[in-house]
Amino acid sequence: MNIQEHFKKGKKEETVKAIIKEAKECNKQYNFFNTITENLAVRQIKTAKGKLAGLPISVKDNICVQGVESTAGSAILTGYKPIFNATVIQKLMNEGAAIIGKTSQDEFGFGSFNVNIGLDKKIPKNPHDPTRVTGGSSGGSAGFTAYTKHPHVAIAESTGGSISCPAAFCGVAGLTPTYGLVSRYGLIDYANSLDKIGIIAKKVSEIQPVLDIIKGHDEKDPTSLKQEIQKFKQVKKVALVKEAFKNQPLLKKQLIEKLNELQIKYEEISLPVTEKYSLQTYYIIAMAEASTNLAKYCGMRYGYEEAVKDSYDSYFTKIRSKRFNKESKRRIILGTFARMAGYRDQYYLKAMQVRTLIIEEYKKAFKKDDVIITPTMPCIAPKFSEVNKLTPLQHYQMDILTVGPNLAGLPHLSVPFTLQENMPLAVQIIGDHLTEYTILNLGEQIERSSK
Ligand code: GLN
Repeated sequence: MNIQEHFKKGKKEETVKAIIKEAKECNKQYNFFNTITENLAVRQIKTAKGKLAGLPISVKDNICVQGVESTAGSAILTGYKPIFNATVIQKLMNEGAAIIGKTSQDEFGFGSFNVNIGLDKKIPKNPHDPTRVTGGSSGGSAGFTAYTKHPHVAIAESTGGSISCPAAFCGVAGLTPTYGLVSRYGLIDYANSLDKIGIIAKKVSEIQPVLDIIKGHDEKDPTSLKQEIQKFKQVKKVALVKEAFKNQPLLKKQLIEKLNELQIKYEEISLPVTEKYSLQTYYIIAMAEASTNLAKYCGMRYGYEEAVKDSYDSYFTKIRSKRFNKESKRRIILGTFARMAGYRDQYYLKAMQVRTLIIEEYKKAFKKDDVIITPTMPCIAPKFSEVNKLTPLQHYQMDILTVGPNLAGLPHLSVPFTLQENMPLAVQIIGDHLTEYTILNLGEQIERSSK
């Protein structure tokens, strides 16, 4: 049953109880949730009124829910219970949604496979094949969305691909909206100039009803946009990025067949600056911003703490050494380096300039074509045994197709399109700023029909 049918049938209380039971059971094997909020969901359902009344919603662990442990997947935030709701959560609750839990993620969003988890957390597994990763960093969101038999939508977040990647690996739909369209107030930041809250759902058609609730200007977020989403436009011409399909000729062939069937024209284009420089640009900016964001976690104000026995400096060092995982430490060191006097001009400021060139390259493409399509990821969900062999650099290289639209703040939708080795394979539709309705419409037309 999709969410539209759910609203017609109206068995809201039963659904919420059933999905909580399912979440608890599957969590033993799949680890999709860091916390399941049974009491909160049952309480909310009793008084639920509004456009989403009774809709079960899971929330990525880096989005604050009042009174519920919100750790961004990190052991340094264990025990942190925010005293307020993120704006998106408040909006969803005002429309009657039932929050069922906080989903697993890479610590602070640092990863593409959801294996860089907090030291006190468990790694989620792909529901199509538990020897494979869910993708990250919103692995719990996508994994549970694919697994559940009940109506449900996940609220997730992307900095450089954390919605697209796990949605693709788990065979569900994931929308990353235009930067600034959805308020970031109450999001535990990774990199402020890149973070976007978005939506993962089983079907593309389930995304818009939730997007329409969570979008909109918020004075609590200084980067929040005042502009509205543009009116939907029928897509007439798409651009396929030649280099992006180089290793996936079969996917390209099937996509072209689909476009022909829909009578949509296409042309092949290249995005040379994005192809060559987006990874380096993204990782410099993301790590620089992340290293400043993590400075506030010192075992005092938020989450995990111990008795202070010696100097504050040694206390902070002790807590940070003990509670951050390896990847977070790597990013603090690299990010601090990129921002240091003497290197700042060479790395951080240079990356900001290249970011502008990348934005310009996309903008130029949108003058000719309505949307741009690439595969979402270079491969199907890898096995844990394969991921364990990757170096950090190879790990970062997996994001080659998702960091571009994230750097440019462009809306993008990962759509389940076909299967390979019985695992889902997805394409990514990238639109110009504020064209969410247009890309969602095209997504509905091309999404794999057999689900
Ligand atoms: N894999 C990318 C990174 O590690 C993107 C993650 C994200 O979007 N949070 O930074």
